[in-house]
Formats: sequence, C-alpha cells, structure tokens
Amino acid sequence: AKNNPNEPEFMQAVIEVAEAVIPFIANNKKYQNKMLLERMVEAERIVIFRVPWIDDNGRTQVNRGYRVQMNSAIGPYKGGIRFHPSVNLSILKFLAFEQTFKNSLTTLPMGGGKGGANFDPKGKSDIEVMRFCQSFMNELCRHIGPDTDVPAGDIGVGAREVGYMFGQYKKIKNEFTGVLTGKGISFGGSLIRPQSTGYGTVYFAQSMLATKGDDFKGKIVVISGSGNVAQYATEKVNELGGKVVALSDSLGYVYDEEGIDAEKLAHVMELKNELRGTIKDYVTKYPNAKYIVGARPWGVVCDVALPCATQNELDVEDAKALIENGCICIAEGANMPSTPDAVSIFQKARILYAPGKASNAGGVTTSGLEMSQNSLRLKWTFEKVDDRLKEIMTDIHVSCMKYGADETGHVDYVKGANIAGFVKVADAMLAQGVV
Ligand code: NDP
Repeated sequence: AKNNPNEPEFMQAVIEVAEAVIPFIANNKKYQNKMLLERMVEAERIVIFRVPWIDDNGRTQVNRGYRVQMNSAIGPYKGGIRFHPSVNLSILKFLAFEQTFKNSLTTLPMGGGKGGANFDPKGKSDIEVMRFCQSFMNELCRHIGPDTDVPAGDIGVGAREVGYMFGQYKKIKNEFTGVLTGKGISFGGSLIRPQSTGYGTVYFAQSMLATKGDDFKGKIVVISGSGNVAQYATEKVNELGGKVVALSDSLGYVYDEEGIDAEKLAHVMELKNELRGTIKDYVTKYPNAKYIVGARPWGVVCDVALPCATQNELDVEDAKALIENGCICIAEGANMPSTPDAVSIFQKARILYAPGKASNAGGVTTSGLEMSQNSLRLKWTFEKVDDRLKEIMTDIHVSCMKYGADETGHVDYVKGANIAGFVKVADAMLAQGVV
C-alpha cells in the first residue's frame, strides 16, 4: 500500500490474488524466493499523456490518457481501453493486473494491459468522439503494435471508437495490421467479438450450474448494466430458456416480470447503442415494466445474477439480499463488480460464485482469436469462433476446478482462477529470467 498510495481499486485486486496465491507459493518450492508476485504487481511500463481536442464550439479541451503495460511474459500486452470520467491510474492498474491472470486463463498467448482516458463520451457529438479518438491515438500509436500491445474496447469504447482509433493508427503508421481488436467486420474484425463477453459469461455460468446437475431452463435471471456485455448476456440467457427480468444503467434499473425477450432486447439495443439514451425509456414502450431510479437491481428475486456494469456495483447488503432471495449462482460479466465483503458473503453461503477474471474471459478470448485471424489474413465463420469460445470457456472452468475444488467437491472459483492464472505467467517469468 505504501508503494501505491491512493490506489484502492488496485490494492483490492492485488489482495484478492495474493490471498489465493501466497498459500499456494508456500506449498510449492518452485515458486518460492523468486519475488514472483512482487514482480507481477509492478507494471512493466505505464504511459500517461495529454489528450487535447477541439469541441464543436471551437473550444480546446484536454483529458488525460493512459496505457498500463502490466505483464508480457506470455504474449503481447492485451486489454481494453476505457473512456469514462472515473478513469484514473488506480482503476487502470487494477484492470491491467486482473487482465494478466484472465488472459493466462484463456490458454491463448496474451499478456496483460489496460488503458483509457477520463473522457466522457456521453453527450458528445460523433465528430467530437472522432476528434478525441484521433488525438488519443496520436500518442498511443508510439506504444502499441500487433506484436507489442493490442488494445480493445471496454466501457465507453465500442465499435465506433475502435474504428476511429484504428483509422488514425493506420494513417500514422501506413500499416494495415491487427493492432486493435473489436474492429468492424469489414476491416478485420472477428465475427462474434461483440457477443463474446456476454455469451462467454453465460457459457461459464452454464458450466457452473452443470456441476449441480442444473441449467438455465426456467431460471429467473437479473443482469446489471445494459451495455455490450449485459445485452449479449441477455440474448444468450433467452436462447438457453432463462428469463431476464431486470437490466440497469448508471441511473437506475428496469424490472419486467414478463421477461426481456428478443423483441424487447432489440429495443434496449436501439435505446443504448443508437439513441445513446437511458434504460428509463424502456418503460415508455413497455408500460407493464417498472423503472426504479437511483437503485441497483440486486433486491429483485432471482435464481442467477450476472453483474455486467462496473466495479464495486454489488456490496454486502446487495449480496445478503441475493442470498436471502434464493439466488444460487453469480457469474461476473463485469470486472470486480462485487466488493470483497460481498464476495465473502457468497463464499460463506457456498453458492456458485465466479469472479470476472474467469467468467468474463470470453471477450478477450475472442479478441485473441481476432488476432489469430488477422495474422493469418483469414476470416473464420460465426460457428467456428463460437465453438472455440465455448471450448475455451469450458477449459477455464476445468482450470478453476483443478485448483479451486475442495474434498467435498465445492469449487472456490476465486482461488481456482487466481492460482491457475498465476501458474502459467509464473512459469514463463521463471523461464525468461529476471528481466
Ligand atoms: P458499456 O459501456 O457497453 O456498458 C456499461 C454499462 O454499465 C452501461 O449500462 C452503463 O450505464 C453501466 N455503468 C457504467 N458505469 C457505471 C457506474 N459507475 N454505475 C452504474 N452503472 C454503470 O461497457 P461494457 O458492457 O463493455 O462493460 C461492462 C463491464 O464489463 C465493465 O466492467 C468491463 O470492464 C467489463 N468487460 C467488458 C468486456 C467487453 O468485451 N466489452 C470484456 C471483459 C469485461 P450507462 O449507459 O448509464 O453509462
């Protein structure tokens, strides 16, 4: 903590990993006295830079841009870019640190990184977003490359922003390479990348439920967020026979007892992706639903909960409410959405609980598959990528069980994911020497 003052999110992420990995190291001589964890918490490189741009009124604006290159032991740095007013060094270090373990779990050759800016895309015109993305890339292009560091989207960065950043990189470097993932389908993007984090989270939850001989059929599901991850998690739950009764955004949540079916989901996508409005407008079209302002959806009775909005969006009281209401499975689509005390409540209750670094790894998995397709200059079918995604999510589940299952068969997915992620990175670091 004294080396990283004022970085509570980063400390939170490190403590969670350390609690699982330190006892593991104590029982494994190979990993002792090599300062492995101490080296892993120190980013290989961090760049912080000025992002000046001109708004539609001709006024000069300035934001702060970042890229945290955390660990490249097993492959080029890989991780998303976040544009949100809350972005700071602590949040990006936590995300880059988590990403290192998550990418290791995918079995694909990707190191860990994360970046972003404290820019708020809300209320900005399309041209303002383009100017901002171009200015951001003017500096970032010096630090990334298809074999060095391959960013992707995250909160506030979707296909539109990735497209603008890719265009600017190509113009500056005079190179058409797979330097970003999440690109449009017509210029190197992979089929199923938009769906993959949401789908992957549901595939992972499916594996968790299967350990109890159960599945999604007839399950009542609550999902937070209504962005990329939440939308496609909803789609997959519907396909598997579950009923999603709540979605949220930063201002409140909607409760629709009848279920948010495919037609209603299409409306949510239009509201959030095209009109860039709030989830509140859902009830205008579907008046049987209720809108609850300024609240999170965790008090809604459900069997399965999928937090898919942001970090620390589910606290102790929320965790207690979920357990009291009979929730049996929580799989995180977002990164670190549950506070440490909320996680303890889930663990004490011995319900199925998976941390984001395991359950939301489907996004970066498909990004890895996009990198492979770009290097091969080939395009795989939707089915091929989806099959690979399912296979890898199943493998991640197996890895979590390997290191997380106790003698009763109960799986501690936090322990399992952290140790499995650590082992591969640690082995590569040991082999590469002290660099
Ligand atoms: P989007 O920007 O598409 O959606 C984010 C959603 O979360 C929106 O509904 C947004 O509401 C809500 N939200 C954002 N900040 C807050 C906040 N402080 N409080 C409450 N709600 C908030 O992002 P994604 O769906 O891509 O990402 C969601 C989560 O999933 C993040 O934690 C991200 O790191 C993680 N993730 C994403 C991956 C991906 O492939 N996209 C991959 C792996 C993890 P509003 O619309 O009002 O802003």
